Amino acid sequence: STAADSETLTVMGGGLVGSLLALYLAQHGHSVEMFERRPDIRKAGPVEARSINLALSDRGWRALEGVGIAESVRDVAIAMHGRMMHAVQGQLTYQPYGQEGQSIYSVSRAGLNRRMLDLVERNSRIRVAFNQQCQRVDLRQQTVDVLDTELGQSRTIPFRRLFGVDGAYSAVRAALQRTDRFNYSQHYLDYGYKELTIAAAPGGGWALEKHALHIWPRGQYMMIALPNLDGSFNCTLFFPFEGPASFAALQTPAQVRTFFEQVFPDAVPLMPELETEFFENPTSSLVTVRCYPWTHHDEVLLLGDAAHAIVPFYGQGMNAGFEDCTVLHELLSRHGHDWNTIFQEFQQVRKPNADAMADLAVYNFEEMRDRVADPRFLLQKKIESKISAQYPNQWLPLYSQVTFSHLPYAEAWANGQQQEQIMQRLMPHIQSEEDYQRPEVQALVAAEMARRRA
Ligand code: FAD
Repeated sequence: STAADSETLTVMGGGLVGSLLALYLAQHGHSVEMFERRPDIRKAGPVEARSINLALSDRGWRALEGVGIAESVRDVAIAMHGRMMHAVQGQLTYQPYGQEGQSIYSVSRAGLNRRMLDLVERNSRIRVAFNQQCQRVDLRQQTVDVLDTELGQSRTIPFRRLFGVDGAYSAVRAALQRTDRFNYSQHYLDYGYKELTIAAAPGGGWALEKHALHIWPRGQYMMIALPNLDGSFNCTLFFPFEGPASFAALQTPAQVRTFFEQVFPDAVPLMPELETEFFENPTSSLVTVRCYPWTHHDEVLLLGDAAHAIVPFYGQGMNAGFEDCTVLHELLSRHGHDWNTIFQEFQQVRKPNADAMADLAVYNFEEMRDRVADPRFLLQKKIESKISAQYPNQWLPLYSQVTFSHLPYAEAWANGQQQEQIMQRLMPHIQSEEDYQRPEVQALVAAEMARRRA
């Protein structure tokens, strides 16, 4: 064992990706020191522990499997087999996400984080400190200034290798931003979001279909809901900041109620706390962050939202951050202690995929809030799944490539755009599901497939 084997790695941020990263680094035999700004969420009261859920899909599951916690997470996850669209008049339309047996999973963010922190704390190679806020990174001296938010005291801690997993507003990234030829951009949507709640049915149970992700698509805005274990649903309203239908336009409880009764009439009776929550819960913004490089020599590496924050509409932010850990794990297995190679390969492999995922996430916003309410769009999706069934080796719907496969995001996005062009050529010949079997349509599809192969 060389000196390099025993060096301590510093992980800044103990969120979802930071905790998983620490577990992977420890699995490779490294000692890890992890700092987290917030108090230990396992000790938080019910208010802070308010359940907000996330959709976990195949990429995330694989990363959890690698540290042996997938099974225990599966126990508290709710399968969502498809999207349930709610029209204004309450009419429901259902669209499965994938093939039989394929689902995304609703998991509690706090629950998941707690489970991972339990593992982190039980791991003898990892030391974790809460209430520790990174204030400044000195790249030249290789030190971090960390404020103990309970004691109100700062100290300077040396690091040999620093992993920045401190989220979309990363302090570690802020230090890289001041280095030469560092590219950085952030882009905010004109939309914000607010978390609301659909209560459990009286006597327990779920007031809406439990195994679905519910969407109220309304063109310029939408609400979604994911199931919780206790029978409630977490709703998220994605809504313009300004304009006729916007956060700015809803200033009083009466305005909120009137608006919701007009546009989400089937949901309102299930939301007893609507007005209170609307004014008590924050209105949060939606940002895409792109930057490069993600490294500083072989000393600093950004992962997760710190490297690539995306808007939440594909349910992939956490999954992408978890996949970062899978990729790093493979590189650690292949290159041992050659950190320079590991860091370089990591960013070269991941950057195009993170960029593609950022684009996909914005694209899916339009699909969810607008296109899923269009019968022609839903017909197109049905035709696509027929093509996929007929040509399984040549056609996997884009959603499945992103959600139920491990194809690099950039490949999925390129395939998806090509498939969309094909659908644009086919759909003018198709007015109903039955049309798919017509000989002239079959001939067109066959020709497209032959061209794709060529
Ligand atoms: P974070 O979860 O932000 O964790 C960063 C950690 O670092 C935090 O614990 C923070 O306290 C700590 N920290 C921050 N600054 C400092 C500092 N200066 N010093 C020390 N510690 C610090 N993803 C999905 O896969 N599926 C979904 O369904 C989904 N839904 C989403 C819905 C919404 C509304 C939003 C906003 C995001 C959603 N995401 C989803 C994305 C997902 O939340 C993020 O991608 C994921 O949390 C990123 O994990 P992270 O650990 O990189 O960052």
